Amino acid sequence: MAIRTMTHHECVEMLNAGHYGHLACCNEGQPYIVPVYFVFDARVAYSFSMPGRKVEWMRENPRVCLQVEERQLKGSWRSVILDGKFQELPDNDTWHEERLHAWSLLQKHRDWWEIGSLKPDAVPPSHASPHLFYAIYMNDVTGRAATQIDL
Ligand SMILES: Cc1cc2nc3c(=O)[nH]c(=O)nc-3n(C[C@H](O)[C@H](O)[C@H](O)COP(=O)(O)OP(=O)(O)OC[C@H]3O[C@@H](n4cnc5c(N)ncnc54)[C@H](O)[C@@H]3O)c2cc1C
Repeated sequence: MAIRTMTHHECVEMLNAGHYGHLACCNEGQPYIVPVYFVFDARVAYSFSMPGRKVEWMRENPRVCLQVEERQLKGSWRSVILDGKFQELPDNDTWHEERLHAWSLLQKHRDWWEIGSLKPDAVPPSHASPHLFYAIYMNDVTGRAATQIDL
């Protein structure tokens, strides 16, 4: 197997194409990672969520990362890690446009909202709709690609 560093262009291309990744945040030295759907556009990853641990933690510490991977035939793979900053997109004058932009990108994908709007049965449903949109502004991105070499 040969491993190489992906170019910035390849990393961005992969983020543009991928809509599923692992979002990692950290609070008081404790890491937390969850699978999420997202859409990437112009150095920003957008996603949708209900309030919960990840959102509380990202509010406390907005430095997060998002990891995306692809596995190909014969053991080849590509993996990208985006380091970024969490920004909630509330429905107010400051963030309204970007919130709409996030929604317009996310809604192009089937079921984009469903998992992010669900909680386990034990959590009582709320009549108010507390769902939220958020952005992760990219600071840095790295990628590695591995190719299986048949000997
Ligand atoms: C394919 C896929 C796509 C998803 N897309 C989204 C999305 O776009 N937006 C979104 O908000 N969520 C999405 N989820 C669900 C997400 O992974 C979290 O389960 C969910 O967001 C709740 O996270 P929370 O921090 O609010 O947890 P809370 O509801 O606050 O619960 C916290 C507790 O539950 C545990 N917990 C929470 N989630 C998980 C988990 N996934 N696995 C194991 N333990 C868990 C934590 O460890 C902690 O103990 C997706 C999941 C999958 C599998």
